[in-house]
Amino acid sequence: MIEIDPWGVADIKDYTRLFDEFGISRFQEIVDRIEAPYRYMRRDIIVGHRGYEEVLKAMNERTKFAVMSGFMPSGKVHLGGKMVMDEIIWHQRMGGDAFACIADMESHSVRGIPWSKCREIGLNEYILSLVALGFDPDKGHIYFQSGDKRLRDLAFELGKVVNFSELSAIYGFSGDVNISHMISVLVQNADILQPQLLEFGGPKPVVIPVGIDQDPHIRLTRDIASRMRMFRVEKRFDKDQKPYISVREKQAGKEALGAVASRIEGPKKVYEMHIDVFGIEAAEIDRNMQKIEEIVRTVEQEYGGYGFFLPAATYHRFMQGLTGGKMSSSVPESYIALTEPPEEAARKVKRAKTGGRVTVEEQKKLGGLPAQCTVYELMMFHLIDEDAHIKEIFEECKNGKRMCNTCKSEAAELMFSFIKRHHEERERAKDILNGHEIYKQWF
Ligand code: SF4
Repeated sequence: MIEIDPWGVADIKDYTRLFDEFGISRFQEIVDRIEAPYRYMRRDIIVGHRGYEEVLKAMNERTKFAVMSGFMPSGKVHLGGKMVMDEIIWHQRMGGDAFACIADMESHSVRGIPWSKCREIGLNEYILSLVALGFDPDKGHIYFQSGDKRLRDLAFELGKVVNFSELSAIYGFSGDVNISHMISVLVQNADILQPQLLEFGGPKPVVIPVGIDQDPHIRLTRDIASRMRMFRVEKRFDKDQKPYISVREKQAGKEALGAVASRIEGPKKVYEMHIDVFGIEAAEIDRNMQKIEEIVRTVEQEYGGYGFFLPAATYHRFMQGLTGGKMSSSVPESYIALTEPPEEAARKVKRAKTGGRVTVEEQKKLGGLPAQCTVYELMMFHLIDEDAHIKEIFEECKNGKRMCNTCKSEAAELMFSFIKRHHEERERAKDILNGHEIYKQWF
C-alpha cells in the first residue's frame, strides 16, 4: 500500500502502482490530444491526471477553463515549486484563467510560521519568481488565503458537508490535531473551487497542477464539489436497454426541479424528485447530457447553488534530491533555490549525484545510467527544451560516449545562466508588481 501524505515528504518509487491503487489515469493516454504539449507533458514528467479530459476539451474548443495551484510559504522557492509555476503559466498561456494562491493559512497552522514571515516569503520568494517565470498578474489572480474573505466564506460553506471522521480517515488526523489545521484543509478545498464562483465567471473546468502527494486534497475536493451540487444528471437504461437521461434532485427543492423541467425540450416525465428524459438516440445521448448539465448548472446558480464541475488535476513526478534520495529543506545541498546565487547553484550541480560508473573506462564500456542521474534530471526537467537534444544526451550517456565531468560542466553552465537570468527577471517582476493589488494589500 502506497502512502500519500500531503504534509510529509514524498518518496514514491513506483508511480505505476498509483494508477491502480488510487484510480489515477495515465497522462500519456491523452497527451496526443494536446495541441502543443508542454515539456513536462511530452516527457512523462506529468505522469497522471484526474478528469483532465474536460479541461482539454475546453482548451481545444477555446471555451472557458481555469488553472489554479498554491504554494505554502515555509521556505525558499526551489525547482520543485518552479514545476508548479511552469504548469500554471503554461495553462494561462493556453487561455486559462489562472489563480496562484499563497497558502499562508496552511503554513501558519501546520508549520507554525508567523504571519509576517508568511507574507515576506510569499511575496519575496514565490510571487516574484512566479511573475519572473512568466505569470501575467494583470490577467490572472494572485492572492494570500488570509487576505481573501470570499475564500474563507466559501471554506465555511464547504465545511457543512465534511466531518471530522472523514478528515481523520483521509489525513490520519487524531484528537490532538489543532482545529486550525483542519480549517486549513477546508480553505484549500475552497482554493480549488473558488475559480468557479460567479465572481470569476461561474462553473467551468479547472485543473490543479500538483505533485502526486497532493492527491488526497484533490479527491476530497472532488467529493465536496459533488456533494454541493443540487442535482445529479445520469445516463440510465430502460428494460429494453434503450438509454435515457435522468435528472435527480438532491437538495434543490420542487421549484428548482420544475425550472429544470421547463427548460428541457422533448419527451420527459416529471416525478416528485426526478425527471426522466426519453426519445434520444443512443449516438446523441452524450451531447444531450452535456446540454442538460448546462441547464442544471444554470438553474443551480439561480437557486443559490454553485453548479461546480469536479476539479481536475495533473500530477507530476518529483525530482530526486541532488545528493541522492529525497529533496529536503534541511539539506541545502539537496536542492537548488531559485533565489540562491548562480555560482552556488552551478557548484551544486557539479557536486550532484550522477548515474556514472566508477571509472572512465567502465563508463566507456558499460555506459552511464541517465535514469538514475540527478544531473540528467535537471537537464530534462528544467534546462533543455529541445527534445532532440535531451534524447541525444540520453543516448550518448547510455552508449558510453558521454563522460560525467564534461556533462556536469555543461549542466552547471546552463544552470548558472538560468538562475542569473531568473534573478534579472525577478528585478523586472518587481517593477511589474509595483503598485499592483497584491502589493497594495500588504504594504
Ligand atoms: S554522463 Fe551525464 S547524464 Fe550520464 S550519468 Fe554522467 S552526468 Fe549523468
